[in-house]
Amino acid sequence: MLVLEAGHGPVAALRPRGLMARLRAAPVDDGERWPTQLIMRRREGARAVEVNAVLGMGPGGSGRIYGAALGRARRWDFETDNQPHQWDAGGETALPNAWPVAYDDFLTAYREAERLLAPVGTRDPTDPDDDADLAPPPPLSPAHEAIVARLQANGRHPFRMHVGIAYRPGCSECQGSTCLRDCKAHGFNRALAPALAAGAPVTLQRGAMVRRLRRLPEGWAVDYVAASGEETSVTARAVVLAGGALNSPRVLQASGELWGGAVPDLIGRGLMFHASEIFAVAAPEGHSLHGPRKVIAMRDHYASGAMPLAECQSLGMVGKAGMITSFLNDKLRQIGIDAGVAGRVLLRPVGAVAERIFARSELFTAALQDLPYADNRVTTEVDAEGVERIAVTYRPRGELIARARHFRGLMREAFSPLNVRFLTAPGEPNLGHPMGTCRMGHDPESSVVDGFGEVWGQPGLFVADASVFPSSLGINPALTVAAHAIRVSARVGERLAL
Ligand SMILES: Cc1cc2nc3c(=O)[nH]c(=O)nc-3n(C[C@H](O)[C@H](O)[C@H](O)COP(=O)(O)OP(=O)(O)OC[C@H]3O[C@@H](n4cnc5c(N)ncnc54)[C@H](O)[C@@H]3O)c2cc1C
Repeated sequence: MLVLEAGHGPVAALRPRGLMARLRAAPVDDGERWPTQLIMRRREGARAVEVNAVLGMGPGGSGRIYGAALGRARRWDFETDNQPHQWDAGGETALPNAWPVAYDDFLTAYREAERLLAPVGTRDPTDPDDDADLAPPPPLSPAHEAIVARLQANGRHPFRMHVGIAYRPGCSECQGSTCLRDCKAHGFNRALAPALAAGAPVTLQRGAMVRRLRRLPEGWAVDYVAASGEETSVTARAVVLAGGALNSPRVLQASGELWGGAVPDLIGRGLMFHASEIFAVAAPEGHSLHGPRKVIAMRDHYASGAMPLAECQSLGMVGKAGMITSFLNDKLRQIGIDAGVAGRVLLRPVGAVAERIFARSELFTAALQDLPYADNRVTTEVDAEGVERIAVTYRPRGELIARARHFRGLMREAFSPLNVRFLTAPGEPNLGHPMGTCRMGHDPESSVVDGFGEVWGQPGLFVADASVFPSSLGINPALTVAAHAIRVSARVGERLAL
């Protein structure tokens, strides 16, 4: 098996040194993040803004820098076709989004992914399907205990968040960066690296950017640019694309020969991001927040009647000045204002004030379920320097913004009388959670791949990443991506009769 990975993994030498160099350095090119910015539009033909891609790069992918929240989706997520008219949110119709896989079939893969990634936590008392085998989580801080008690007093059912962190001594949970203690579990450190170390017949090529696929009489040709810059090609009996939802569809779009030049229109469409609902809850007076931060989850408001909402969970980050400054800067960029170096320097005092305001707060988040719409999509554009860039057309719908507002009311009630302050605009996309651009379904008319990720009409070509999600689920995607990949690996094995 040959693994072609575009990134190298963290390269310390590439990290700019010194404050001014860091402020000037956008986009980030430190070897662990996608180096070019996204070109984003709200509609086809609208004015474009450039925003930093929130994507990990290198073996382990976005899992290197992710927050390791590893919850399962619910049975309801798999079995429901969510359409806005079901909760009276107007006439727009989303793409069909029930999963073509029975939840009971997927459960086996969830259990296998949990065995591999070993999340800590406690079971969700509101979900009869949650039989996760979880390691005991570290103790709660007094402030977190008080928040849990408040939720319980308000009739909610909080539990310990499922987190793929081994909590080795000195662990700081490492959200947004590579974990140097290897506490944080991802596909590279828990699967590929051990296989390489054990001498399995696997080769990993770093810095190898796959461009296109071609069919040969005996299998496949994969054209890629190697780390040396040389354009080259390998042949394979089967190919598994796992470039993520902003990249796998672009490789397929560039491989038009597979369909006689007419790439299926659905490839790249149905792009979803979760809406990122981040809020600060003021910790009860006199209780220390010292301790791990990715600790509390609650699914009492996973849905409201037919309306899909989300799990509420600890964000796991402390509101530090630098983080708040870069957050504000990204917000400005998204509305088309590039504050430049001067702007970034000017924003720092704002970050420092905000840090003081949030010092006594715990940050929570929810990945509010987004629905798939055909005009939300990803394609490739070549910029003025001739560089191929990820181009995203995405417009959060009014129904999503209305659900976000409804969710906010529910959170205020759940944490009452603790003060709850929302920090994001309702419906704001979480660019780190792209999904749905090679959707899975029952037939080639409404989907790109089948329930095992095999591309319709292309036997031996599989997609094993978040692009296959037909719906975005009310929970972070990584455990479901891992479980799907386990199902794909079994099917590839059958195809090749391994
Ligand atoms: C900061 C951050 C925090 C997050 N926190 C969580 C969390 O707590 N829980 C959770 O469930 N999810 C979280 N996510 C989301 C989660 O990481 C992703 O949903 C998940 O990693 C997606 O997996 P994937 O396989 O689809 O793509 P990725 O993990 O993005 O992997 C794609 C890989 O393919 C490589 N690649 C791309 N194109 C090519 C090409 N043409 N040739 C060769 N290689 C290529 C990339 O370099 C990358 O390594 C977070 C994401 C971010 C960015």
